[in-house]
Amino acid sequence: MQGFNKYYPPDYDGEKHKSLNSYRGKHALGDRARKIDKGILITRFELPFNIWCGTCNNHIGMGVRYNAEKKKIGAYYSTPIYSFRCKCHLCDGWFEIETDPKNTRYVVVSGARQKDEDWNPEENGGFAIHDTDPKAGPSDPLAALEKSTDAQNHVKKVQIPRLEELQTASEHYNADPYSHSARVRKRFRTEKKIATQRQATEDLIKGKYALPETLILLEDDEEARHVARDEWLKGQQELQAQASRKRPKLSTSSFSTSLSSLPKPKPAKSPNDAASSLRARILGNTQRASQGRAK
Ligand SMILES: [Zn+2]
Repeated sequence: MQGFNKYYPPDYDGEKHKSLNSYRGKHALGDRARKIDKGILITRFELPFNIWCGTCNNHIGMGVRYNAEKKKIGAYYSTPIYSFRCKCHLCDGWFEIETDPKNTRYVVVSGARQKDEDWNPEENGGFAIHDTDPKAGPSDPLAALEKSTDAQNHVKKVQIPRLEELQTASEHYNADPYSHSARVRKRFRTEKKIATQRQATEDLIKGKYALPETLILLEDDEEARHVARDEWLKGQQELQAQASRKRPKLSTSSFSTSLSSLPKPKPAKSPNDAASSLRARILGNTQRASQGRAK
């Protein structure tokens, strides 16, 4: 029995026995390690594929689990190769399955047949991936020579000039950042000065004629002036044409006679005159009324 409890018997000597397991003469893995002296450990092993038992010829499905005897039987580089020996649960036969680190799979070694259900890309309209040796060059030495010459020519004729071009361009833009910056700032100052002046002029005009702030004024140049002048002349001509259509032309003589025939404007009366005339009118009216009543 495996030492599960922590009872230390009176004759237990820590120096001598080291552990309770060794005191009882048991392995830490218990019964699973009963064949450990032969390098075999009992583990639970699950079938990774469908098989047919070689002894009873029964089909055993993928995923059935066995208490298998696991043993290291070799190594692929530094990776150990394990074999799992299982006893068929339907008969007394044994079958053995090994790991295959090279192809990352399991293989049936003896006692059973594996059902081949691996995916074959070529069968299913795909392309198989072949492990080609990357170090393998062209077998024809002349072809290899031609290839390397082509590569050299490409470097000389295309790649190096391109690199030089890029380098020149980079130097052109990045060699003297101070002067570039000074030039740019100078230009900016000039443009800003002009823009500020124009803004001031526009503000003045807008303030003068109460134009909305958002109104965009035309730039005051020769062409704009020309167009404005033409428009103004056109407007003037139209106005004159309208005026001539509305009233007939008068001769100067008739104009003077008509002037003289106009009623002469009355001289402005003084406030006193106005008051006396009003009084006279009222008096006249009352007189007329009283006369009417008397009749
Ligand atoms: Zn069997």
